[in-house]
Amino acid sequence: MVPSVHRRDFFKNGLAGLSASVLLGAAPMQPPGDRRPVVISSANGLRTVEKAMELIKAGADPLDAAIAGVAIVEEDPTDHTVGLGGIPNEEGIVELDAAVMHGPSHGGGAVASIRNILHPAAVARLVMKRTDHCLLVGDGAYRFAKMHGFPDTELLTDVARKIWLYWKETNSKLDDRIPPPPEELDPEVRKFFGESYVREHGTIHCSALDTHGNLGCTTTTSGLYYKMPGRVGDSPILGAGLWLDNELGSAGSTGRGEANLLNLSSHTIVEGLRGGKSPQDACLEACKRVFERNKVKRLQDAKGRPDFNVKFYCVTKDGKFGGASLWAGAEMVVHDGDSARLVPIASLFNEQPPEGA
Ligand code: ASP
Repeated sequence: MVPSVHRRDFFKNGLAGLSASVLLGAAPMQPPGDRRPVVISSANGLRTVEKAMELIKAGADPLDAAIAGVAIVEEDPTDHTVGLGGIPNEEGIVELDAAVMHGPSHGGGAVASIRNILHPAAVARLVMKRTDHCLLVGDGAYRFAKMHGFPDTELLTDVARKIWLYWKETNSKLDDRIPPPPEELDPEVRKFFGESYVREHGTIHCSALDTHGNLGCTTTTSGLYYKMPGRVGDSPILGAGLWLDNELGSAGSTGRGEANLLNLSSHTIVEGLRGGKSPQDACLEACKRVFERNKVKRLQDAKGRPDFNVKFYCVTKDGKFGGASLWAGAEMVVHDGDSARLVPIASLFNEQPPEGA
């Protein structure tokens, strides 16, 4: 029988420094195998893949490694697309979505519109392990997290609050708010709405292949900036924001969640692998479907192409990886066991994303 390692050893083997709630529901460490591990993520996941790879090499379950990796971004107040510091909904309240999938058990769990909980991906793992369900939302998800010992966290940072307030002051025609004169604008807010400001959303996806050839993945986000309260995107929806098949590979997405929900793109990508496609071609096929099925005129440019972006990331059971986006210039992060690096991904169209995409 393979000897397991206890929770305190999980700390010794690389989780020191991560908060205890990231460990809630983590499996015991196992002796590492001899296959080459690979961890991929969206472009904001350099530290994520490094942490996940460190844990995989020490014998962590691939899903636990991915969750510990994204926890770094969930805790980072400077990433305004995930967890703490995420841009709030239109009422100024941060609502998070996250999902996980575990290859060996083909298990999945998710939480949506959860408030005041710093690590929704770890809560999603407990939904998978400690309920007979796949998705908990809103107050039910929050109470479930509290029941398991997750602490309350105010997720709205001062900077995110000021960004939201400025958005309200400059966008709402429904009330009488007045934005500050330019010279009084907080430099952080000015930076956020600066010249290069085009995004209205963001997310982190991480897929991990361990040294036994097993897969795990997670996607975690604060979703669309200033969204309607209760709006849920693709990230916590199994098949849309992430999907895996332990015999084939694992995939995930970032970008306009609604487009992805209407195409279940992560599932499409893994099925593309089944049909013999490379990870990059499977991701490009998912982009093509998003393009072809985008029938809504107000979401098209003058040439009928989507006026938004989606990005897909995929790693196979045998360690190949690739990605694609609708528009050019996107990247993903890859750790192949030796080092972590940003790599360009393919695109359906050669041009840079349209403004606002
Ligand atoms: N997919 C996320 C959502 O729609 C946002 C993003 O990745 O940009 O909630």
